[in-house]
Amino acid sequence: KYHEQLVELKGNIRVLCRVKPVLKEDEHEEGQTVAVTTDPHNESALTVLSKGKAKTFELDKVFHPQATQEEVFQEIEPLITSCIDGYHVCIFAYGQTGSGKTYTMEGPTENPGINQRALKHLFNEIEERKDMWTYTVTVSSVEIYNEVLRDLLSKDGEKLDIKINPDGTGQLHVPGLRVIEVKSFQHIKKILATARRNRITFGTQMNQHSSRSHALLTVTVQGVDLATGSKSSGKLNLVDLAGSERVWKSGAEGERLKEAQNINRSLLALGDVIQALRGRQTHIPFRNSRLTYLLQDSLGKGNKTAMVVQISSLERNVGETLCSLKFAQRVC
Ligand code: ADP
Ligand code: MG
Repeated sequence: KYHEQLVELKGNIRVLCRVKPVLKEDEHEEGQTVAVTTDPHNESALTVLSKGKAKTFELDKVFHPQATQEEVFQEIEPLITSCIDGYHVCIFAYGQTGSGKTYTMEGPTENPGINQRALKHLFNEIEERKDMWTYTVTVSSVEIYNEVLRDLLSKDGEKLDIKINPDGTGQLHVPGLRVIEVKSFQHIKKILATARRNRITFGTQMNQHSSRSHALLTVTVQGVDLATGSKSSGKLNLVDLAGSERVWKSGAEGERLKEAQNINRSLLALGDVIQALRGRQTHIPFRNSRLTYLLQDSLGKGNKTAMVVQISSLERNVGETLCSLKFAQRVC
């Protein structure tokens, strides 16, 4: 009974944590003591040792450092299926720069992350259902840097605005956004490569740009039941968030400070929205950042969200690790 209540309370938001393994390149640095321990017998808790004190955090699921891309995806897969069934789904990677967000979402070519696996699963499911349903899949991709939206599928990275549809439904639209209809997994792989390339190109104009911006990949799945003609409309948002580290603590100034404040504001806004959705509140503060504003039709009640909080296990990152876990706990 208690468990049922808990499930109801938690609703459709799952908070997962992935601990980054200590890599060879980390070993050359000093202070590489490990401060995070996972328990093989308890997959929903981890312990952080800080200033001689052990703190335990409870989450929906903890991935130990050796967890594979496939294991991470297995936890996400049901959400992708939901999306084909007509749910709006958001999957976020949260954490400080270097904690493995892009590894989890994009992954290396030979061992892809959630984005590619999700789309592969999507097209496999659609193929399996083809005698009963027919689906149209579209994809778009934007980045949000300093509260400015850019199209990652257009070479010149046009700046975009978010507008409210004049049709009275209150729905948002982004005029000029490139939306591409995709027919196959092979096609989507090419589109993902374009988005990745463009993100890097825009990035060379600005130091460390990619860790300072949110990257969104949005997939829509419109289905028609071949027998009855009834329709479904699902949406999948895959979000590689900007680094959550508190750079202003290191005395950042000027542009760098403004950037940091914008990132902080949007991550805070995201936390506020998820927390509000968890509670009984009727006012959900979507408008406090571009990110939450853009995602409001996918974050509202009745939708599904997974947040993968990425952490480093190294002692020297323990401050940021604690901050990320506090964020996880707040939305958990
Ligand atoms: P972020 O996007 O959070 O800044 P990255 O995903 O770029 O972090 O990860 C930083 C580095 O660590 C990259 O070289 C990446 O390949 C590596 N890395 C991250 N997570 C893992 C993992 N689970 N296994 C192996 N290497 C990883
Ligand atoms: Mg990254």
